[in-house]
Amino acid sequence: MLPNQIHNWIGAQEQPAQADEWFEKLNPATGQVLFKAARSRAADIHRAVELAKKAQPAWADTPAVQRGMILHKIVVGMQNRQSEIAAIVAAETGKSMKEALGETGGAIQCGLFYASEGQRLYGRTTTSGAANKYAMTIRQPIGVAGLIIAANTPIANVAWKVFPALICGNAAVLKAAEDTPATAWIFGQIAKEAGLPDGVLSVLQGFGEEAGAPLVAHQDVGVISFTGSTEVGRIINRVAGERFARISLELGGKNPLVVCDDADLENAAKWVLLSAFSNAGQRCASTSRVIIFESVYEKFRDMLVEKTKKLKVGTADDCDFGPVINEGQLLGMVSAVEKARKNGATILCGGERMTDAGHKDGYYMAPTLIENVHPHDEISECELFGPVALLFKAKDFEHALQMANDTPYGLTASIHTKSIHRAVRFYDKVQTGVAVVNAGTHGSEPHMPFGGRKLSGNGSREPGTEALDIYSELKDVYVNIDPAQA
Ligand code: NAD
Repeated sequence: MLPNQIHNWIGAQEQPAQADEWFEKLNPATGQVLFKAARSRAADIHRAVELAKKAQPAWADTPAVQRGMILHKIVVGMQNRQSEIAAIVAAETGKSMKEALGETGGAIQCGLFYASEGQRLYGRTTTSGAANKYAMTIRQPIGVAGLIIAANTPIANVAWKVFPALICGNAAVLKAAEDTPATAWIFGQIAKEAGLPDGVLSVLQGFGEEAGAPLVAHQDVGVISFTGSTEVGRIINRVAGERFARISLELGGKNPLVVCDDADLENAAKWVLLSAFSNAGQRCASTSRVIIFESVYEKFRDMLVEKTKKLKVGTADDCDFGPVINEGQLLGMVSAVEKARKNGATILCGGERMTDAGHKDGYYMAPTLIENVHPHDEISECELFGPVALLFKAKDFEHALQMANDTPYGLTASIHTKSIHRAVRFYDKVQTGVAVVNAGTHGSEPHMPFGGRKLSGNGSREPGTEALDIYSELKDVYVNIDPAQA
């Protein structure tokens, strides 16, 4: 079903990179080559930005309601081809078809939300301090949006950025994640079939420094929206900040889940497993620090270890999670765990690459629980982006809260308690963009704002109506009238 070569969509044209260079995309479940993808460089990016600049004014002049109707056609195209998209997501990421279908459903919901926002691109009408003067704000597009995404939930990441950028009247150039080229490519195809005007969306394949960096540096790209690591986010902030582009950064996390002594431990254990291990821990919102009250620590730890050992790892629908996205990611994680072990950490389960016959060719990390690490050890502070969770002991609620906040990151957090007092104090005081009571650490629904504090972001929030603030300029308008001429 997948072509042997995944091209760029430069405007509505499917084409190789100008230099005709390619890179291999491997199947994370088997290590086999899936296809080759276009290896784009600055010349390809410049061409896409030129087309975007040409197409954008007419797109901006298309009434937002009509833009929404075209985006709705893309959504219908995604619905009609949901299983095809999901099969590509599954093949590229190694997640099960069930997971991939769920993710595609989320992307469709996101598209539907923004298609309808064409009917609601609200400004504000208010009073003026002067007589015969009327004050209001209107939303206007920025121009060309540069979108750069990670591979972990590939179709959701595409939808999360392309739909809000386009509904606001921008043209967009999307740099796909190099680990998931085909998902972005099929989205480009669906957009073309839906009648999106030529040049309004280009989808480029390639590596970060070769294809992402020229997009970030391009002076005609007015807004850069990035989902990826804090390390790359820092570079983007510097480069695009230098030329005063609008920047949205959705970065990494080291997310805490607190288990109090009054928690429903069965429910808490269920959510730790889902939050730490689903999608092989490759979620910015993953739980990687489990902070447990001393009085229930041993009991809860033993429950977790027992349940973790029963997890099924593979690509089938009844598996709990699959491989990580590439070998480099796997090896980095294994060496971080090894280093922690040498420094005195106790590996309660997992901690290694899975090397049995069913897993040895893929990039499989055994589900891993670790204790006896210090909150400021390297492994406690750096994001591993894999199925690895650390367990910590807290004396009481205030200690748990302090530990939850004692991290360079601030993306998501969860608390398990039956106390309304603890729950409210936790969501009030935890220094994150998302707080959850009695469930997992997770992202936001498509109509709600997601984003992080500290090293997890730059304060922007996507999706929800809040993303409209990223992709549009507000203009403050005053109308003065003269009643004498009425
Ligand atoms: P990454 O930062 O290495 O790459 C992300 C994207 O940036 C890729 O498309 C890559 O090609 C591109 N890129 C790399 N270097 C670049 C450069 N110099 N200039 C421009 N673009 C460049 O991240 P990754 O390892 O692929 O993804 C995992 C990270 O993404 C984790 O840190 C995770 O927490 C984060 N993430 C965050 C969110 C969120 O919403 N906060 C969601 C998903 C993933």
